[in-house]
Amino acid sequence: MPTREEVLAELAKVKGPDLKGDIVSLGLVSDVFISDGRVIFSITVPAERAEELEPLRQAAEKVVAKLPGVDKVLAALTSERGQGSGPAPTPPPVRPAPSAGDAANVPPPMQGRAKPAAAGAGDKPGVPGVKAIIAVASGKGGVGKSTTTCNLALALQANGLKVGVLDADIYGPSIPRLFRVTGRPEPVSGRILKPLEGYGIKVMSMGFLVEEETPMIWRGPMVISAITQMLREVAWGDLDVLVVDMPPGTGDAQLTMAQNVPLAGAVIVSTPQDLALIDARKGLNMFRRVDVPLLGIVENMSYFLCPDCGGRHDIFGHGGARSEAEKLGVPFLGEVPLDMAIRENSDAGTPLVVTDPDGPHARVYKDIAAKVWAEVERHKEGGERAAPKIVIES
Ligand code: ADP
Repeated sequence: MPTREEVLAELAKVKGPDLKGDIVSLGLVSDVFISDGRVIFSITVPAERAEELEPLRQAAEKVVAKLPGVDKVLAALTSERGQGSGPAPTPPPVRPAPSAGDAANVPPPMQGRAKPAAAGAGDKPGVPGVKAIIAVASGKGGVGKSTTTCNLALALQANGLKVGVLDADIYGPSIPRLFRVTGRPEPVSGRILKPLEGYGIKVMSMGFLVEEETPMIWRGPMVISAITQMLREVAWGDLDVLVVDMPPGTGDAQLTMAQNVPLAGAVIVSTPQDLALIDARKGLNMFRRVDVPLLGIVENMSYFLCPDCGGRHDIFGHGGARSEAEKLGVPFLGEVPLDMAIRENSDAGTPLVVTDPDGPHARVYKDIAAKVWAEVERHKEGGERAAPKIVIES
């Protein structure tokens, strides 16, 4: 397999737009990712020239493909923040969506026509029309990350924002079920897919693109290209916020995502158990390492309200996340009780924020949503620079 330097040496043979210089010395190549015989990278071009520069993208793929040990090359044209807030360029011809059992055929990310994106996004290309992207993450699976994503998104909408949800949990996409949406996203133009809609929220999930029973074995680069495609090749329209349900855990795929997606911040979901908090801490540190603002921690399954006796039971030793958040200097966003109604409604695709909007659970989620948004705004104003940066190695 080639090294990054070898890849860059090949790419230096590709002339820049207008045949001036080469794409490497012009500083246009970024996000080089090499793994398992796959090479993925981005080439920054002005948004309005994306279509015209498609041959450049192809030339770049071609030179890298010639390197020994390279099976597949995925080059994406991206545009810089601040560029190209105008109309979307016409994308190149449609490529088939990944079919069942053919994970290796996941198409590469395509050109993002960026607009100033999110606070904390650095120079990562944004998603046109999307003002802020926030990630919902957890150190491990099963803590209620997707349930929280769904209700948080609906609560942000109830608080007056235009919201979309990207299900990046491609190992176990549950957003289609949570929003009770089925179907296949149709192409609107070229490779751009129209997201499906549930309860007024635009949603995109790998669950729409592969059969439910397909066992998916994804390796890092495939995960990234699939997620990047779902992020950038979808007609999100104008959104105040896109909520991303991240894959669980803190592996390479998650790290690369946190690095490549221009995140305005991350919300960590944890249960009160110590073990989960250790995992949650890993999640926190992962985002810190790549300078993504931490919007706060949600304690899920925090306490149990007994429907029979009305009593409150702290099954998992409630309060762990709050004290952990204080220790780590991260906002504590709220406690969601362990409640049958939450599980039943999540599994039935009738989220409580919609079906019981004035109920106690909806209030909890709306309160969390308000705090999340306040944090996004605070970081946008440069709040994260004011806060001390503590990194605790796990
Ligand atoms: P993750 O995305 O972390 O894997 P899910 O959101 O899929 O977790 O939740 C796992 C299971 O726990 C689901 O059956 C869900 O309905 C249930 N669940 C999540 N949060 C709660 C809660 N607060 N009370 C009761 N059940 C919950």
